[in-house]
Amino acid sequence: VRRSLRRSAAATAALAVLWFGYCAARVVREPAAAAGDSLVVNDVTGLNPVTVARVLAPATVAEIEEAVRTHPGPIAIGGGRYSMGGQTASDGALHFDLRGFNRILDLDTARRTITVQAGARWRQLQEYLDPHDLSVMLMQTYSDFTVGGSLSVNSHGRYVGGGPVILSVASFRIVLPDGSLVEASPARNP
Ligand SMILES: Cc1cc2nc3c(=O)[nH]c(=O)nc-3n(C[C@H](O)[C@H](O)[C@H](O)COP(=O)(O)OP(=O)(O)OC[C@H]3O[C@@H](n4cnc5c(N)ncnc54)[C@H](O)[C@@H]3O)c2cc1C
Repeated sequence: VRRSLRRSAAATAALAVLWFGYCAARVVREPAAAAGDSLVVNDVTGLNPVTVARVLAPATVAEIEEAVRTHPGPIAIGGGRYSMGGQTASDGALHFDLRGFNRILDLDTARRTITVQAGARWRQLQEYLDPHDLSVMLMQTYSDFTVGGSLSVNSHGRYVGGGPVILSVASFRIVLPDGSLVEASPARNP
């Protein structure tokens, strides 16, 4: 009896560990909210529902330029939606859902630079870089933020003396309110 009790306790413990691992993996790996066609945009807290007029999930920079140029009213941008004060959406505005704008465009291993779309998550970069024996130079304490969302808030890294994340950025392209595309770096359009 004691042996079978021990076995069933071990089996229960193994199941509990597996279940915990499964739940933890879901929490860590799944985005704050799944992409969908709802006009209600929320953040990771679930406390800030905002009804927008239209959601655009662009695949190209040209689509973003065109929408910014032609949309007459306010525009708000959502990255990973991990900020917690409703900053990613505005009532009745056009909302850019950038979670699918997340391609890795280029890796230059000699220069150790990577080019990504703004909706790429740090996790994606890590997984892409790791087989090359490289890693992200500066990032925050969590991997599911997007690169654009991190830079937009001028996030700090987690490394003492490393400074803010922007110090690891060679340049980025930004669409201005008139729809024009500008390259910005410490040397050009700083
Ligand atoms: C668990 C946890 C740990 C954290 N750790 C750190 C940390 O170590 N250091 C730190 O500095 N911060 C930290 N933060 C804050 C975090 O860096 C910010 O909330 C960050 O903005 C989250 O990125 P996101 O992709 O979810 O952005 P979102 O929440 O989607 O957007 C944040 C802001 O950026 C704007 N935005 C998003 N994408 C773009 C884009 N492509 N172009 C222009 N604007 C855009 C949005 O409109 C919004 O105003 C932490 C937050 C959490 C929840």
